[in-house]
Amino acid sequence: MEGVLVTGSALVGLDGECVRCLERISDEVEVPFQELFVYHDQVSHRGGDATPADPEDDETSRLEGDLLDLEPLLRDAVVLALPFQPLCEDDCPGLCTECGARLADDPGHAHEAAIDPRWGRLQELQQGDD
Ligand SMILES: [Zn+2]
Ligand SMILES: [Zn+2]
Repeated sequence: MEGVLVTGSALVGLDGECVRCLERISDEVEVPFQELFVYHDQVSHRGGDATPADPEDDETSRLEGDLLDLEPLLRDAVVLALPFQPLCEDDCPGLCTECGARLADDPGHAHEAAIDPRWGRLQELQQGDD
């Protein structure tokens, strides 16, 4: 009665990086959406408002004649469906804090215990003597 109810779903290809190890991620999500597009003249007569609403602030989706613009609707739906912190795997161990190696590629990755920074200067002297 007031407009056209649009229901659908979009298959979206994702491309990004794991937040822990920066590994490239490619994925697909199916994004459902639904929105009522109101007939144009319905909006302007609503409530008898004297001051016309700023079209930029107006959240109402409208028909443009016989056409409707799916882009804003689709963009909002896709943004909400995106993972907030994408991971290559749920238990991605991330990167080595010392050398930046990707730990998932090298599960046994380890370093010798770091020298206490207070002795670092001594180590430099020792290397100088060699
Ligand atoms: Zn990862
Ligand atoms: Zn390392």
